[in-house]
Amino acid sequence: MSTITAISTAPGNAGIGIIRLSGEKCFEILDKIFVPKHKGEIKGYSMKYGHIINSTTKDVIDEVLVSYFIAPNSYTRENMCEINSHGGMVVENKILEECLKNGATLAEPGEFTKRAFLNGRIDLSQAEAIIDIINAKTDKEMQVAQRQLRGKLSDKIEDIRKDILDIMADIEASIDYPEYDIEETTNEKIKIFLNGLEVKLNSLEKTFENGKILKEGIKTAIIGKPNVGKSSLLNLILGEERAIVSNVEGTTRDTIEEYVNINGIPLKIIDTAGIRNTIDEVEQIGVERSINILSDAELVIAVFDDSRALDDEDNKIMNLIKDKKAIILINKTDLKKGNVINSEKIKGLHKTTIPFSVLKEEGIDELYNAILKLFNMNNIDLDNTEIVTSARQKNYILRAHDALNKAKESIKNNMSIDITAICLKEILEELSSITGENVSEDIINEIFKKFCLGK
Ligand code: GDP
Repeated sequence: MSTITAISTAPGNAGIGIIRLSGEKCFEILDKIFVPKHKGEIKGYSMKYGHIINSTTKDVIDEVLVSYFIAPNSYTRENMCEINSHGGMVVENKILEECLKNGATLAEPGEFTKRAFLNGRIDLSQAEAIIDIINAKTDKEMQVAQRQLRGKLSDKIEDIRKDILDIMADIEASIDYPEYDIEETTNEKIKIFLNGLEVKLNSLEKTFENGKILKEGIKTAIIGKPNVGKSSLLNLILGEERAIVSNVEGTTRDTIEEYVNINGIPLKIIDTAGIRNTIDEVEQIGVERSINILSDAELVIAVFDDSRALDDEDNKIMNLIKDKKAIILINKTDLKKGNVINSEKIKGLHKTTIPFSVLKEEGIDELYNAILKLFNMNNIDLDNTEIVTSARQKNYILRAHDALNKAKESIKNNMSIDITAICLKEILEELSSITGENVSEDIINEIFKKFCLGK
């Protein structure tokens, strides 16, 4: 394979910048552009101090430290080095140019990790965990990804695969030795096995609901008529949870999204600008805006004002949230007007309803707890549970489930055991795709495209 190179640190000025090289010619190329202070044998997991020079003019480009990794003990399993230079775009680019000039090719986004996968150091679900670690917005999301990187999900899939292979061996025996008439007992065994497998697949499938939330956050709309306190609430949430995380998606590093971290769950508040923009626009804006943003929302926080009697606009808001996952805040309870707090209409909606005062910061913990409860995020055991976070993985679990249903049907309908064996093989293949066996080149490329350059 070619020798690849890329700048691995983020663009911009920084303490250091790292330029990576990986591949057969790594040390050959380095030899032409690096003058170490102390020459001598290269050892893995070691560093040398020296200077990067222009290989043509021999002018010094920068003072650097180079770390060495010798195959197979490196990130890619190839010979690798990392040049630690000063962290400036000009200097980093000049070093990159020298690497390219002397025989390296520019790495594609994620190509270092792709090589780690192709060379068998990690499987595909672990590669996905690496992107998740890089993009993690909260501790919890990172915790799940770290577990996946350590191979916990892969181990679980591998255990299931082994069980399937055992059963397939039994089936083969019953096909090869029909005279022993073991088909009956094998069928019984398969039935029990399939029921057990179904429980395992169901529980993995279910974890995706949590996984998706941890990864993508909950799209939240704060709605209510003008002056109920939406903007004040937003400020309270943003002010309280200072950890607003910017999520840099994809490779371009240019789509930035804001999240609020609510006890480890990212909340993505829709139309924050719209909420802030409360200037006395026409009255109906409140409802109109709500209609516009509701379709996109997974969670609605509907705010009502306890200091004013419920009116037509409030009724419209109530109508809008009827069939939504919604939490109702009765705001301004500090004014003790009691106009809304005991409203039968609001009770009739059967939503979690919280007396609230943005002014006194009362009700905020109840709000956060209600959110976690509504999305079943309050008692997930992240230390001991494999959580499926990728839609790709979930898709293969669903396909394995379909194949499992076919296997069950084949037994129910007394079909030949060969047919059951084919279905079992299908389950095996679908599950193997999670860790990356039998996966097409296109899918692999699609996954690594999401990485940043230099990873
Ligand atoms: P929005 O139009 O729904 O965004 O409402 P604002 O957040 O702009 O609030 C409207 C007015 O209500 C402002 O004067 C706020 O200071 C006031 N307000 C908001 N929350 C409370 C509260 O809990 N108690 C009291 N007394 N006033 C509040």
